[in-house]
Amino acid sequence: MKTFTTRRAIREYLCAQGSATIGFVPTMGALHNGHLSLIAQAKQANDITVCSIFVNPTQFNDAKDLKKYPRPIEADMAKLELAGCDILFNPAVNEMYDGNEQWHLDVGRLEYLLEGEFRPGHYQGVMQVVFKLLDIVKPTNLYMGQKDYQQIMVVNKMIELLNIPVNIVMCPIEREADGLAMSSRNVHLTAEDRQHALVLSKTLNWVKDNFDRLNIAELQQQAMDKLAAEEGVEPEYFRIVDGKMLLHASENTQIIVALTAARVGKTRLLDNVLIR
Ligand code: AMP
Repeated sequence: MKTFTTRRAIREYLCAQGSATIGFVPTMGALHNGHLSLIAQAKQANDITVCSIFVNPTQFNDAKDLKKYPRPIEADMAKLELAGCDILFNPAVNEMYDGNEQWHLDVGRLEYLLEGEFRPGHYQGVMQVVFKLLDIVKPTNLYMGQKDYQQIMVVNKMIELLNIPVNIVMCPIEREADGLAMSSRNVHLTAEDRQHALVLSKTLNWVKDNFDRLNIAELQQQAMDKLAAEEGVEPEYFRIVDGKMLLHASENTQIIVALTAARVGKTRLLDNVLIR
């Protein structure tokens, strides 16, 4: 695997590869099998697979969260080698951001819903870094996880608005054997938190199983009650929405997704399930 830390060097290398197709997997590192499943999908469908590891400061609205974000770069590089990734882009913050640059792109309500309500400014930071990374890597296909469902919708909207020539591929959520969605933040869970955290995937599955029996308002309320009843779990939201705009779903909406976020101990976790 080739590793680049400057924009210029990776750009020059990729330009020299002519018309090779590029599959790109942007990450913040602390890689787990979820990330590696994205690498595997990229490898299958492209000539060159590029992964980036960059803990993007502009998408954190909590300085403590940014500081404690895990950064096991050596272990990450070993995992990428083993997965057969061709190129790693691992820039420092000052390589990506030159001083106090500004960014704002209006993507409408998508930005303010759900995660946006609890993490103001988060998606502007996500779009800012994804835009820069796409400009550097110029991939054919961009691989992103369903785990961050709203993020995909936001990036998709940006790509549409700015006419960026890339195809987004949404990859399914990789889970631990007991159902917990894999996440870099799971390392912060204590043994007790780890057990309590299972209520997220269990509740999402319960909603999916009961979708034809109860109405959406009842499902949302009962799901919030189930989450809140679990020791050490503080739910932030549980919503059943239409899969495109993430707004109110009705029983005849075509794509329906249930999304949740909760604090488990000191760790904030996300999960979701496609209901239909
Ligand atoms: P992150 O490093 O958390 O920014 O994640 C990088 C990419 O990996 C994003 O597109 C995530 O949605 C995706 N990802 C994170 N966790 C999982 C998972 N459990 N299964 C599949 N993809 C995931």
